[in-house]
Amino acid sequence: MTKTIKTRFAPSPTGHLHLGNIRTALFNALLARHGGGQFVLRIEDTDRERSRYEYVKELQDDLRWLGLDWQEGPEVGGPHIPYVQSERTSLYAEYYQRLDVAGHVYPCFCTPTELAMSRKAQQAASRPPRYAGACARLSEAERQARRERGLQPTLRFRVPAGRMVEFIDLVRGPQRFASDDIGDFVIRRADGGPQFFFVNAVDDALMGITHVLRGEDHLTNTPRQLLLLDALGLPAPKYGHMSLIVGSDGGPLSKREGDLSIRELRAMGYLPEALLNYLSRLGHRYAQDVWMEPAELATGFVVEHLGRAPARYDETQLLHWQAEAVRYAAPERLWEWMGMAVHQQVPAIHQEDFVAAIRPNVRFPADAMFWAERLFGEELTLSEVSQIVIATAGPAFFNHALAAYAKYGTAYQLLVDELKQHTGAKGKNLFMPLRAALTGETHGPELARILALLPPDTVRRRLHVWC
Ligand code: GLU
Repeated sequence: MTKTIKTRFAPSPTGHLHLGNIRTALFNALLARHGGGQFVLRIEDTDRERSRYEYVKELQDDLRWLGLDWQEGPEVGGPHIPYVQSERTSLYAEYYQRLDVAGHVYPCFCTPTELAMSRKAQQAASRPPRYAGACARLSEAERQARRERGLQPTLRFRVPAGRMVEFIDLVRGPQRFASDDIGDFVIRRADGGPQFFFVNAVDDALMGITHVLRGEDHLTNTPRQLLLLDALGLPAPKYGHMSLIVGSDGGPLSKREGDLSIRELRAMGYLPEALLNYLSRLGHRYAQDVWMEPAELATGFVVEHLGRAPARYDETQLLHWQAEAVRYAAPERLWEWMGMAVHQQVPAIHQEDFVAAIRPNVRFPADAMFWAERLFGEELTLSEVSQIVIATAGPAFFNHALAAYAKYGTAYQLLVDELKQHTGAKGKNLFMPLRAALTGETHGPELARILALLPPDTVRRRLHVWC
């Protein structure tokens, strides 16, 4: 029987969530949903100095905003509570103990200075720096002597010699690492705090995680973690290491180029579905490049379609999916998203028609405000082109327009037919002056919809000034 798929997102709460780490969360959530499995949230706050409670709160907020709900984790609980590593210390103690009893670990008294000197010597000899093993074979008496000198040891994992660590990476295929290239590594700090390698692997095993998708910066950690799990007799998940997101120039993401927090993107007015549609295609390929609802994103998600090439950030693409998200959002939701300023400007009875009229012309709430002001504001500022178009049409045109409006009101087709007949203008020469006078712009929402939305007094006034 195959195990139900279980994935996790294991952020370290040391900063805001950005496009890069939220993509990791998303891919893991999609993978779980695709397989009808579970998605776990685990907070890896072993770096006590840099971890902040505010970030824990914030990242949960960001995940929920994006609809990436977790079935096990903080706030929702689950069979493996607690889901915050700083609250699992007693559990880790048991596994340190097991390694100790089986002789897989030893206390290391090397000071940071000694370690740095050893690294330097190795580099000078053109050897890859790894722990040289100074404390690997200390006798109990030697250890005791060091303890008496007040030295606090770290705990090192004794990497077995002459082994080949092999695994099939879900993204990168078969991987091989010689254990002899891996120095004995620290799994518990001198202050007793656990190291990432250890708690990350132990928790994945204890929580029954079956698949781990994470950044390729973790690839070299994997053989260490596999050795650890093997020594503990715990099951290992399948790992997949995803290419990192780079800027459009191939360099690291910069602030200007997409290194924006979810918080910032949200404040800018991005809709969660836009981010989901964009990110799920960043380093992953769908059979079709069309807009998808979150459930469809999960259905179509295929691990084999994760690419090895660096995923390039492309703002044009992000904006494209934002436009699509606006296009497909429910009207009430779009209205909410437009915000207070728009709500105050647009009369309640026009809410629906306003949303319908401007939807194709809006990407962000600020665009909605632009049209709210143009349609319902007192003052109308005319763009330069509008002024030229109006002047070219001349007063007679607007006299006829005013008369046609008096006759037909918002019956748009009748109005323009009438205007066409009287002025002889057609096409652009007919619509542009009308649009310019009514909205101050030469492009924008459908004119028929605008005419229906504008208060009659406003229409008359805006046509009359040019007569
Ligand atoms: N806490 C680790 C990080 O944020 C998790 C790495 C992993 O997914 O295994 O990088």
